[in-house]
Amino acid sequence: MRRRRIAVVGAGPGGLTLARVLHRHGHPVTVLERDPAPDARPPGGTLDLQEGLGQRALDKAGLLPKFRSLSRPEGQAMRILDTDGTVLRDWRPRPEDRANPEIDRGHLRDLLLGPHGARPLDVRWGRRVTRVVPGTLDGVVVHFADGRQETYDLVVGADGAWSRVRAAVSPVTPRYTGVTFVETSLDDIDTRHPGLARLVGDGSLAVYGVNRALVAQRNSGGHVKVYAQFRAPLDWRASLDWTDIDAVRSDLLTLFDGWSAPALDLLRHGTAFLRRPLYVLPVSHTWTHVPGVTLLGDAAHLMPPLGAGANLAMLEGAELAESITSASGPEELDEAVRAFEERMWARAGRWATITAAGLERLVGPDPAEAVALFDEVQQS
Ligand SMILES: Cc1cc2nc3c(=O)[nH]c(=O)nc-3n(C[C@H](O)[C@H](O)[C@H](O)COP(=O)(O)OP(=O)(O)OC[C@H]3O[C@@H](n4cnc5c(N)ncnc54)[C@H](O)[C@@H]3O)c2cc1C
Repeated sequence: MRRRRIAVVGAGPGGLTLARVLHRHGHPVTVLERDPAPDARPPGGTLDLQEGLGQRALDKAGLLPKFRSLSRPEGQAMRILDTDGTVLRDWRPRPEDRANPEIDRGHLRDLLLGPHGARPLDVRWGRRVTRVVPGTLDGVVVHFADGRQETYDLVVGADGAWSRVRAAVSPVTPRYTGVTFVETSLDDIDTRHPGLARLVGDGSLAVYGVNRALVAQRNSGGHVKVYAQFRAPLDWRASLDWTDIDAVRSDLLTLFDGWSAPALDLLRHGTAFLRRPLYVLPVSHTWTHVPGVTLLGDAAHLMPPLGAGANLAMLEGAELAESITSASGPEELDEAVRAFEERMWARAGRWATITAAGLERLVGPDPAEAVALFDEVQQS
């Protein structure tokens, strides 16, 4: 029987894990990615990969030992401050604790991309998908921004929050949560800002106030990402010139006025600012199965960034790959995809509920709720 032609749209954690596990089983797969090259844009901050989710996926990809050598278990550390600088929690993992180690997104991407073995993954960079049309005689047609088109037997949309594949199965689009993040970063923190470096420690520092929070996360190489998080209308400072760093910083310092000096220093020393309004898909987003097309990761179940999204995307990628390789004919493949969707919806629905409630408590009217949530997670 001819091997099924499989395309994965998106070389994020979900798409690359799917491709990597298929590749490990010797199944051909093409990854279509809009970025012109792996390093075309900064890869983003750090991800914690949970034992039962992201790490399980890496195990299925045969990459767990390499992940262990690249990840930072000490990055699980968490310090929580009151807005006046009082330390409320100062939690450090035990040396053998590997429940949720951190890894830089760039390191994870490189780990998934390879090289592993003689044949590299077939990732086609600079291929921006605009539309996917299922149900043609020959299969599913993928349209690209440059006007080209290609046909596949199965197209998997792993193309994130603003997925172009999603429209082939569902009319739903993401909605704004009411919470905006402004991201900034500090480079070479141990040398340039040793006091702040000690405050952030090996992992994360969080300060919770009324309807706002400041979270700093250590990445490797002395790089720290800072997220100012607050409730605001969607158009908050949308017309501001975001390259005018002084103007943005001044607005943020006004927003966090009265907070302790070290907390504000995280904003004062930030090098550039990016506005990131948080969007989500409805909790328990499902669709009527469409033969030849499916979704995974943020494309299927975009949820607040509370440590689940990449984990789920990766496990789904690994599980879908295993389902695909165990199917022997077209009908079995379709049944396998259907079963995968049911499983994904059930698990993602649970996480979407948890993370939606978590966001309400972390960026909410009562900062004590944020600390209580941390305690609950520690005890669970
Ligand atoms: C601040 C922050 C912190 C987070 N921390 C964590 C964490 O600690 N742990 C965790 O599990 N999750 C975390 N998340 C969530 C996590 O980042 C996402 O859930 C995860 O990246 C989703 O993976 P994905 O593969 O589904 O999509 P993405 O990572 O969004 O990848 C999608 C890929 O598709 C490509 N693409 C998009 N459109 C097209 C197109 N039209 N054609 C071709 N290619 C396209 C994109 O370029 C990209 O490469 C965090 C999120 C944020 C914002």
